[in-house]
Formats: sequence, structure tokens, C-alpha cells
Amino acid sequence: MLLDAAVVTQCRRRVHLEHDPTALDAPRAALDASAQRRIAAAAAHRRGVADRLARQYPADWAEISPDLPADQRCVATLALLRQGAPFVWGGLLPADPLGGRRGGAELLVRHGSGYLPVIVVRHKVTDPGRGARTSPLSWPVLAAARTDPQRKLRPHSRDQMRLAHTLRLLQAAGLAARGRAAGGVIGLEADVVAWYDLGAPTWSGGHSAMAEYDTRFADRLAIAHAAATGGQPLALPSRVTECRSCPWWPTCGPALRASRDVSMVLRGEDTVALRAAGVCTVDALAALDPAGSPPAPMTGMSFRDAVWLARAWQRDLTLVRRNRRITVPRAEVEVDVDMESFDEDGAYLWGCLLSGSDIGVPHGYRAFVTWEPVPTPDEARSFAAFWGWLTDVRARAAARGLSFAAYCYNEQAENRWMLSSAERFAGAPGIPTTTAVQEFICSGQWVDLYGVVGAEFLCAHGKGLKTIAPAAGFAWHDPEASGENSMRWYADAVGRCGAEPDLAQRARLLTYNADDVRATRALRRWMSSERVNEVPYADDL
Ligand code: SF4
Repeated sequence: MLLDAAVVTQCRRRVHLEHDPTALDAPRAALDASAQRRIAAAAAHRRGVADRLARQYPADWAEISPDLPADQRCVATLALLRQGAPFVWGGLLPADPLGGRRGGAELLVRHGSGYLPVIVVRHKVTDPGRGARTSPLSWPVLAAARTDPQRKLRPHSRDQMRLAHTLRLLQAAGLAARGRAAGGVIGLEADVVAWYDLGAPTWSGGHSAMAEYDTRFADRLAIAHAAATGGQPLALPSRVTECRSCPWWPTCGPALRASRDVSMVLRGEDTVALRAAGVCTVDALAALDPAGSPPAPMTGMSFRDAVWLARAWQRDLTLVRRNRRITVPRAEVEVDVDMESFDEDGAYLWGCLLSGSDIGVPHGYRAFVTWEPVPTPDEARSFAAFWGWLTDVRARAAARGLSFAAYCYNEQAENRWMLSSAERFAGAPGIPTTTAVQEFICSGQWVDLYGVVGAEFLCAHGKGLKTIAPAAGFAWHDPEASGENSMRWYADAVGRCGAEPDLAQRARLLTYNADDVRATRALRRWMSSERVNEVPYADDL
């Protein structure tokens, strides 16, 4: 039984299914297009980092070909490490049969008489601040690490677990550097190596990343062993966030629905707590008194909401009202905003729908867009045009003494790209300062309808706009409208991969974006109307 690093951060049931011989024919979803794109982008990022490092260290750089069979990769890695090669890229370490693990790291760097692992990831590994231990990419070794006055470490648990796994493999092979357990991460910006002290008591309960890894790995090993040998399963399905992108959902989803498992309405800790108290099904939860005491302390939502949600789920209701009267912020001048981005590459479209009192600006939909494939400096032009238009509308409303509000659905993406655009294109014509963007985001004029929906309704089937807006009577023109599909359309629209740009897909994206902002307008208008009272009130269920 040999397990990879991934098991430590995967759902426990997934580890069971992947080692259960009787699950071989169980339904599984294929990798979706966005996962494939993410995998391809991560591989390209790793290759880019490797090429840079290889150019810096032509004499000290060694690479193991990923095309070699695993046993030959191991042999080649071992030979290089035993020779004391300073940098080994793509190394696969000898399996550790006693520990039950196998794997490698993007980069193994020489440290003293042994090696430390460095992984390359496609997410941010630091934030502005101070205190991270970093070494420059031009000298990616722990000996060059200094306390960084401009960066603080983002404590990514998955990265730390991967590093701990590789360190245990190095130790098993007698090749780990002496001294404190450490490992480095090269992130999306690829400007430094950020170093984790894996022996520091930084995890909850005061234990270290290494101790956390050991506990989790032992648990996963036991699960896999029980599954492989037909023993009592040590992990049962339970709906968690990971289910959304898990290939096993076609197996677990129907099973959870059929058993009316309590995780269908609750998440994480609350599911665990209620199960431990004997409340294992939605029906058992729905039968409790929402005004009574919870059978176990709850952290994710109030006990009252949990019981109401269970009752809504029993009746297959998409929405129930939490409050008798529904309120939503409205203004005399209103703009619905929706941004479209392509992976981590850029925000290529800001769509706006102006409505309300006349301010001398045409009502209706406007798109601020660049059709140059992102990343492109032209993104600065389209963002500046969007910001300039929005600022003008706000100023005109203010000059007329009219109230103003701009709406989006789930502000995280819009906020992230507004701030990132202000940062990335600082100094370009029309680009606001991050302070100006921050002031707008924090003002009462920027309304996240996702939050308003969450405060006013309980949503038994999720809070996504595509789920909620139909309750308000809205329908998208395009029957295939979805964020996932929009990525594919965008790739065609701009001719990524060298193809001719597809103008029909540009039109499709604009229709999709215009529908998204019309959906938020329809939603808030419906929430302000009497029709919303047709939605059952939770306490009446
Ligand atoms: S679908 Fe959910 S419960 Fe099933 S294995 Fe995947 S993450 Fe785990």
C-alpha cells in the first residue's frame, strides 16, 4: 500500500473509494474542462519556473525526464542525489514501503549534506506584510532565506502537507537535510521561494505541520488498507465542499440523497456534531423544534436555520423566506455589474446595466471589453473605461441629489479583479488607485446581492445566481449559459491556441454577460415586489 501526498488533503471517503476494489465500476465523472485547463496552466507554470532556474544554473541543474518509467526516474533521482547535485528537477524518490508513501517534488535542493523539497504552485503564497522567510528565485536555497520586510506567508495547508510528505520520503531514503524540518514554495508570482518551518507549532492545538501530516497520513493509510482488504469502511460519504469537483459525486451524490443524509443540508463540523448526537438524516433534523436547544453545538449556521433548511429540502423548495418581510437595498440610480475573467489570466469584460432615474446617460447594458487574449495591457484600457463610466454615473447621481447603488452577485470575484487591476495597471491612464477602489467596495453603494439573498432566504439547493434567479422568473437566453462554458467560449472568441477568433462566440459571451446583469436586476426587483411573498415563510413549514 503506497499513497501519494494528495490523500492527506483529500476527502477521506475518496481515499476509501480509490482503494476499494468493489468500487472499480462505480460511476465517476470525467475531468471537466476547467480542471483540465487548470492542470495544463499549472504544468506550463512549472515548466516556466524550471526554464528560468535552468538558465540561471546551467552547470548545477539536473532534470529527470517525466517520460521515463517510474522505476527509472527513481534510479536517476537517487543517482543525482547521491552525487550531491545542487538542484534536481522532477525527481521521484524511492517509495517508502514501511511508511506506505511514494512521491517526489518539483525541485530538490541541496542543503548541507542532504536535501530539502521545493514545490511550484500556481497560487499566491505570500501577501503584503512582513515576516515571511524568503530567498530570491535567483538563489533558491534555504541558506539564502531572510526575513522578508514586504511579505507575510499565506499558510496554505495543502502546500505544507505536500512538503511534509516529501520530507518524510527524503528521511526514509536517508537523504533529508539535517536540522529543522523545512520546505520551500514557489508561487504564482515566481519571484521568491517562501520557506515553511514545518516543525514550528503553527497548527491548531499547538502542533507542527509535520505532526499534523503524520496524524492525517496514518488515518488515510488505515482507510485505504480497510478498503483494499474488504474491512469495515473507515470513511462514509458525507457532502463537503470538495464534492463539487470530485469525480466520485455520481456515486456519492445518489447514495447521500437516497439515505437522506444530514450532510445534504449541513456542512463540515455541524454534520459531524449532529451525527455524533444521533441526528443522521434530514428527516431527523426536520423533526426537531427549531426554537428548542440544539442537540449539539453548531458553528456553520444557527440551529433554527438548520431545521428550517431541512424542512425546505424535504419539500424540494429552492427558497424559503427567513423573514416575513424581505428587504433589499434600492436606489434612485442603479447599476448591475458583472465581470468575466479567464482563469488567473485577466478580467476581460465588465458588463453594466444602468436603470433608474435619468442622469443624462443612456439606460441599458454596456460592455467594457478587451478581445485581445488576456493577459494583455489592453485589459487596462477596458478596466479604465469601466471605472471611468461608473465614476461618471456616480458623480452625475450625486450632482442631482439622487441615491446610487451598484449591484453584483457574489462580490469576491469583482472585488478581487477591481483591486488587482488597480494594482497591476497602476499609473496607466484612467486606472484608479487601490485606495479609491477599496473606498468604493467598502461604501454602502456597492451591494452584494449574494449576501442579501443569504440574509433573506434559506436556499436548499445552493445560492448560485443560476439557481436563484429562476425563482424570480428570470431565464437566460442561452440554454448552455454557465461560468464553465463561458471559459470555452472565451477561448474560441479570442482564438487561443492559434485559431482564428470566433466572432459568434464573442456575441454569445456578450449575451451571456448581459443576461447575468439582467438576472441580478430581475432578482432585486422581485425581492422588492409583493410576488416575493409567494415564497413560503420558513416558520410556516
Ligand atoms: S463526492 Fe464528496 S463524499 Fe464522495 S468522495 Fe468525493 S468529496 Fe468525498
